[in-house]
Amino acid sequence: MNRIISIAIDGPAGAGKSSVARAVAERMNIVYLDTGAMYRTVALYMQSKGYTEDAEIAAHAEEVPIDVRFENGEQHMLLDGVDVTDKLRTPEASMLASRVGAIARVREVLVALQQRIARSTPVVMDGRDIGTVVLPDAPVKIFLTASAEVRAERRLKELRAAGRDADPEQVLKEIIERDYNDSHRAASPMRPAEDSVILDTSDMSKQAVIDRILEIAGKVEV
Ligand code: C5P
Repeated sequence: MNRIISIAIDGPAGAGKSSVARAVAERMNIVYLDTGAMYRTVALYMQSKGYTEDAEIAAHAEEVPIDVRFENGEQHMLLDGVDVTDKLRTPEASMLASRVGAIARVREVLVALQQRIARSTPVVMDGRDIGTVVLPDAPVKIFLTASAEVRAERRLKELRAAGRDADPEQVLKEIIERDYNDSHRAASPMRPAEDSVILDTSDMSKQAVIDRILEIAGKVEV
């Protein structure tokens, strides 16, 4: 068979999706697509335009001048040709992304873009709905999870490493709130695909998670 291999990695915030997905893609020498960055980019656009109501955001979803570029294996997000990648990983952008991600019209636009990319190249994609909606035929589907406390601790380290101060209680509160929003929305709620492998990474090292996924991918015929 000569199907383009795609690996779907879903799970809640802080489960380790992006670092694991990036490493798996690197080892397999394929593209890593962070779909959360796309929702964050749309959120940034809506905020810059002052669109705050759901109906307003839905009405403008199609016009977002969003573009994805890969430079030396790194994903860059562009809005109207301007690289906004550095602005995406703030707690404020996280909450805003969770809001725009609940709007069906936004999802339709971004899912179409994600599917177009997956048709053109082998890819490891991470998000919330990759195994269920974006790539339902992906031969490898992983759902990464971990306790909210472990995930908050990881997020805190990430924020501090990026030079941002953060209140541990606030980080945990936002993780729990985002989990709730992402799994209770009507449009493509976060849930493991029926044919996914669920990995609880609370007590696993990053390397152990990567090895497990590579092992699963190695057993799949494509
Ligand atoms: O993965 P990340 O934390 O960057 O995603 C930010 C937000 O974007 C999530 O909380 C979620 O609401 C939304 N998202 C989504 N579907 C995806 C990826 C992200 O709804 N495939």
